[in-house]
Amino acid sequence: MELKIHLVPTGEIVLTPSKDGGCCCTNCFKVVGSEGSRVTMESALTARDRVGVQDFVLLENFTSEAAFIDNLRKRFKENLIYTYIGSVLVSVNPYKELEIYSKQHMERYRGVNFYEVSPHIYAVSDNSYRAMRTERKDQCILISGESGAGKTEASKKILQYYAVTCPASDKVETVKDRLLQSNPVLEAFGNAKTLRNDNSSRFGKYMDIQFDFKGAPVGGHILNYLLEKSRVVHQNHGERNFHIFYQLIEGGDDDLLRRLGLESDTALHLIEPQYTGLQVNVFHPHCVSQGNCPKVSSINDKNEWKVVRKALSVIGFSEDEVEELLNIISSVLHLGNVQFAGDEQGNAQITTETQIKYLARLLGVEGAALKEALTHKKIIAKGEELVSPLNLEQAAYARDALSKAVYGRTFSWLVSKINESLAYQDAEYPGRKSAAVIGLLDIYGFEVFQHNSFEQFCINYCNEKLQQLFIELTLKSEQEEYEAEGITWEPVQFFNNKIICDLVEEKFKGIISILDEECLRPGDASDLTFLEKLEDKLGGHAHFVTHKLADGKTRKAMGREEFRLLHYAGEVNYNVNGFLDKNNDLLFRNLKEAMCQSENKILNLCFDQSDLTDKKRPETAATQFKASLAKLMEILMSKEPSYVRCIKPNDAKQAARFDEVLIRHQVKYLGLMENLRVRRAGFAYRRKYEIFLQRYKSLCPGTWPHWNGRPADGVATLVKHLGYKPEEYKLGRSKIFIRFPKTLFATEDALEVR
Ligand code: ADP
Ligand code: MG
Repeated sequence: MELKIHLVPTGEIVLTPSKDGGCCCTNCFKVVGSEGSRVTMESALTARDRVGVQDFVLLENFTSEAAFIDNLRKRFKENLIYTYIGSVLVSVNPYKELEIYSKQHMERYRGVNFYEVSPHIYAVSDNSYRAMRTERKDQCILISGESGAGKTEASKKILQYYAVTCPASDKVETVKDRLLQSNPVLEAFGNAKTLRNDNSSRFGKYMDIQFDFKGAPVGGHILNYLLEKSRVVHQNHGERNFHIFYQLIEGGDDDLLRRLGLESDTALHLIEPQYTGLQVNVFHPHCVSQGNCPKVSSINDKNEWKVVRKALSVIGFSEDEVEELLNIISSVLHLGNVQFAGDEQGNAQITTETQIKYLARLLGVEGAALKEALTHKKIIAKGEELVSPLNLEQAAYARDALSKAVYGRTFSWLVSKINESLAYQDAEYPGRKSAAVIGLLDIYGFEVFQHNSFEQFCINYCNEKLQQLFIELTLKSEQEEYEAEGITWEPVQFFNNKIICDLVEEKFKGIISILDEECLRPGDASDLTFLEKLEDKLGGHAHFVTHKLADGKTRKAMGREEFRLLHYAGEVNYNVNGFLDKNNDLLFRNLKEAMCQSENKILNLCFDQSDLTDKKRPETAATQFKASLAKLMEILMSKEPSYVRCIKPNDAKQAARFDEVLIRHQVKYLGLMENLRVRRAGFAYRRKYEIFLQRYKSLCPGTWPHWNGRPADGVATLVKHLGYKPEEYKLGRSKIFIRFPKTLFATEDALEVR
């Protein structure tokens, strides 16, 4: 039988049955033994030592990184994947199913004080929920960590917690269902197998869950960030395209696949002919087979297909819409197989007529117009149309640009469609907003690959911004508050990464501005001239490095096409190849024209006439991203944040493997040691004098029933009466600061006893 020990420093230690086998507070932990048996302090301490502390704040040697890692390791070994740093939850991906997410577990965390139960993602969920309800303030839960660390799983667990534990009604059930079902759909279209994660999110996601005044979830809204659409035309070895392609090919029935030109035996031929020795006359889509790993043991595409089809109908996609959506998905497969050959002049000619036939039908456009648009370029100069043929390279570029545009825009349409279905509508008061929201941010973590391009540049920039937010909201604001309150305080040093954010985003001077300038400059602008401009303008910056050394010599370890940024999380070399193209993200005019004619209703919405008539140059990809991040920061700043910091235990996606080097690196760049130092030096609770006095005044004859003096003096009288020790609290200008949670718990308990 599992029992718990209450470890009271001087008192007796007795084993009692633990609540549902779980641990119950910071001072207790599980052991196995028989009820009522006595244990020695020594054995109790050994047991405690085995499982480590559940809040790093309790670590004796709290400045030691080794002690930190050691605690994480102990807990990981015992399948205790969650640990706090104060209110921040640290989570280590177990890479195996744990029995800690049942309905009973959810119930255990409902309405319970954060520190009275063992650390859990449900505790964070519940805490935010209650703060939203009692303080009526919007909340957000920020989940960070590198690819494969468990961010998406964490966000799903939070959503499930609300779906199960929040008040329900018929209408609310529909919303809950839709909120939950939005996940498989977005994952099918936006996730892919990468080397790091079999289910890697290739887009950033911020989701608001809206609640009414009774605390029931009544709606939602999703913002998506920078889908990695280049994946539809290129995947590295060992990686896949987006899941939906494989799901359709594996799960779609014969009739459907025949209609889409993906004959039923296609599924068998996902592998390139050179690997299977198959005849080339069967359609084998190139864009799902480059990575040469169509099958992944952890993924069942056939089943997922059913899940996604059901989810689409729960969310409210009509059969027609699904059909058009599938037409688009198949068109991307066919586009990937369009091939060209050069004529005598070197102009591109299409050699794959069958694909064009399917494409015309699937995209709902004229075959001839599509052919023309794939092999010619149209420019409007001084009001006149100039048409010129494309060479082989340009034609391949145009084809890929079309695939990316079609897929990228369809993804955005999908998100807007989901948003429509989640939109909160108050039946009695149309237009009334929900009472409060909890936002969930699940966005790509810091990425460093062998080869880093524009995408990694954007992703890592995003992480710099989130780190800024973390500094602003926790490290800095905490210290500023002590200062403002006149609390004596030993400042904790931390690296402020604002300098790197500025390096990337500053107007006129930052990397994005320089990149945009090169993208706009007519003439000989190229990726390399962009690099030169960077060197000119940023050479000498403490966080920017290229192969050129100040003395004119060359830095050997760096390529000539690279620049290096010294991010807060580590150094990354970016290869400038493709930066201009990706930032421009252009689709030739005649391809746009062809798409604007589409009879496919979704594409018709995605490519509208304004694409053609807008005189203004569209904003570049980086500038759009910068603007959407700035907006995101604003949204997050206006809410009360909670943090979940996810850690990946090993690169092999294996259970029970704790790779210390890898983990130490993550602990460092997630800023966990600084976080702990600030927390340890600080105070767990702070309350305005008025609020504190109001709540606890009944515990002291001197303050009860009325305190007529200044609230600060009332609180001083009250805590003196309660026997607070000087090291347990400090009195600031407007608030009382309490160092340990247990002090406040004791006071809360005293309220209950009365
Ligand atoms: P991220 O979104 O950070 O890239 P994911 O959330 O997709 O990472 O997690 C990667 C994989 O790790 C999941 O597909 C799952 O197999 C495993 N995993 C993550 N978190 C958990 C968890 N709490 N319990 C069990 N497995 C998990
Ligand atoms: Mg993810």
